[in-house]
Formats: sequence, structure tokens, C-alpha cells
Amino acid sequence: MTESDIINNSRFELTSGEISLYDSLEYILAGKATFTLLSVNTGKRFTYQCNQVTDYIDNKPVKQDKFFLSLLNGPDNTSDYMYAGMVEKLNGNNFYTLRFTAKSKVTSDAISMKAFILVLEILQSGFQRIENNRTQLKIYHDGNCAKCGRKLTDPISVAVGRGPVCAKMQHKQYALDCKKRNIVIDKKNNVLIQM
Ligand SMILES: [Zn+2]
Repeated sequence: MTESDIINNSRFELTSGEISLYDSLEYILAGKATFTLLSVNTGKRFTYQCNQVTDYIDNKPVKQDKFFLSLLNGPDNTSDYMYAGMVEKLNGNNFYTLRFTAKSKVTSDAISMKAFILVLEILQSGFQRIENNRTQLKIYHDGNCAKCGRKLTDPISVAVGRGPVCAKMQHKQYALDCKKRNIVIDKKNNVLIQM
């Protein structure tokens, strides 16, 4: 199954703020993502920030294929984050994993970290495993673009979790998908409506 098959199969969820599991890895690793994982079974939820590392090479910013993961641990969901570890590919491995470092403020025993590690694994395990977890695992964005961090305003942006410039192709696909499913965009009320 290809990516466009998945889109054509209408697996995008329409709830505001919920990200399709099929789209979640790309979302989490977009650069400036804030997201909440929810286990439907236990009702447990955790909120994380995943920020891409930028190194300066010859005084020019170069985005690296690694990310700082932080965990929300206080009442202020804009500032109460603590550093958890690095999301990166290790030892030439093709899969992203969470690496704890000397500065990590949380250990691999924490449920929040076990949950993140498991979800990261599921999202990289292909179609069947994602499908098997689709009713149990929910991922929500915080209403800001995963790539640039700006507030999302139009319904399609909210549905895909990224602004129009940061997710050009995705917006296009999503709009086509909506059309096929007779879903219209109510600009005034900022929602998608099934006709
Ligand atoms: Zn953006």
C-alpha cells in the first residue's frame, strides 16, 4: 500500500487536532511539533515537544536528522517542559529511537517515556501494525504548525497539523480527499462538514 492509497482510503480523521496515525511520524519529526499521545484503553495521556536540532556549519544553520524530546510536566503548556532525550537514528540503523543522555530529566522507566518509545516503534513498523493500533492510540496536535510553530487557522491546516506553506502537497491531497467524500470547508465556522 502506498501513501496515496492511504490518503485515497480516507484514513484522515476529521476531528480537529487529531492526527492520522499514518501521518504521525512525519508530524512528530516535522521540526517544531507539540503533540499529545492518548491511550484509549487506559485514558493516560502525555504531551511532548519534538524540536529539530540545528547545527551551525560555516556559520550557516544546517538542520540535523535528530531532535530534542521534551515532556510537559506542569500546568503551563507553553513553558513547563523538561528535557527527556534525543530522538535519532543510532548506529547506522534506519529507525528513529529515543536516546537518554546525561541531561535527561526523566528515565526510561517513566510511563511517559515507555509510551513514547512504543509509539515511535509502532509508527515505524508499517501499515499493519499502525492499523492494529488505530482504535487504541490517538495522537493530537496543539493547534500549531508542526514545522514552523505558527498557529493554524484554516480547517485543512488543522486537519493535517501544518500550515499551507509547510505542507503544500498534503493540503492538496487533503482537499481532493475531502471533495471525494463530499466534505466541504466551512470557512466561516472554520470546520469541515460532511454533506
Ligand atoms: Zn508552518
